Amino acid sequence: MKHQDDYRQPERVHTLADAIARECTRPWTIMEVCGGQTHAILKYGIDRLLPAGVELIHGPGCPVCVTPLESIDKAIAIAQTQGAILCSFGDMLRVPGSRLDLLSARAADGEVRALYSPLDSLKVAREHPDRQVVFFSVGFETTAPATAMAAFQAKQAGLRNFSLLVSHVRVPPAMEALLAAPDCRIQAFLAAGHVCTVMGTAEYEPIAAAYRLPIVVTGFEPVDLLSGLLTCIRRLETGSPGVENAYRRMVRPEGNPAARQLMEQVFQVIDRPWRGLGRIPASGLGLSDAYAAFDAERRFDLERTTAQEPAECQSGRVLQGIIKPGQCPAFGTRCTPEHPLGATMVSSEGACAAYYRYRPPAPSVSMG
Ligand code: SF4
Repeated sequence: MKHQDDYRQPERVHTLADAIARECTRPWTIMEVCGGQTHAILKYGIDRLLPAGVELIHGPGCPVCVTPLESIDKAIAIAQTQGAILCSFGDMLRVPGSRLDLLSARAADGEVRALYSPLDSLKVAREHPDRQVVFFSVGFETTAPATAMAAFQAKQAGLRNFSLLVSHVRVPPAMEALLAAPDCRIQAFLAAGHVCTVMGTAEYEPIAAAYRLPIVVTGFEPVDLLSGLLTCIRRLETGSPGVENAYRRMVRPEGNPAARQLMEQVFQVIDRPWRGLGRIPASGLGLSDAYAAFDAERRFDLERTTAQEPAECQSGRVLQGIIKPGQCPAFGTRCTPEHPLGATMVSSEGACAAYYRYRPPAPSVSMG
């Protein structure tokens, strides 16, 4: 199979779903880590193809959703600084901060630009040598190499008006934090294929061994997801913990060595707060000492900024798989994609937005 459509073929999908139904004898709870996978599961109704006792719970793998409030507030503070140009991915512009979002900051005379890559912001810095240009960079190990390359190129070019507000996160420590929680229900993970294309699979071995559960690397198309789920269920049914790569067309065990080498040069592993999950040890990437001159938090004196998450939003419980979005009282009423209360409703990869789109709340019926 070579083309994307081949991985959506109905016959292949149903063959895999039948195999899962045949081989599954007990209820199992499996978490897909990645927001892209959550979106695909709801879009294609993958969860509805599974036996009644198999529950999919949705993990914290949406990069926009887990970016902490304090990082949004720091980006807004930069956008409001005279002469600064704040650039970021388009998805970040609507994420609510403590008081406003980046779009509102732009409307109030801040200069905010939506770009596809941190590398594009180098061009902005070269075009505006008299302005401070900052790229607000978020995401998992998938997007971190582009941030590392931007820092590397800025250093090579001696760009003095460019810096990075880095809020990158690492998946394995978050998985461990979820597994260590007292109310954890996770019995197996589908690991995010695109993260593993960069990082490989070795980081998951100690987690699978310590918690004695299967971790199956998988992709984003229906056939990929069902292949990963079949592999998970086979391992669960036979009591076989361990890491398995069910996304071999994209993921090599060693990942992308060149990207990893650049990341090791530019970043250092740091503790990082996750929206809804709190501070997780060793779960973030910050600029290394060699690249400290490009750290926007230092340049704009934002290192002590803190923020309090709104009490009404339950995205932290959604991100841990404790509740489904529909169980949040605000879902579809006070919280909608047009008026989001939390990041999991803002991002197209967020679980709340995915449920709102594919499993919308029933319209209320007036009895009057
Ligand atoms: S529905 Fe809205 S308020 Fe509720 S958890 Fe999701 S984002 Fe937060």
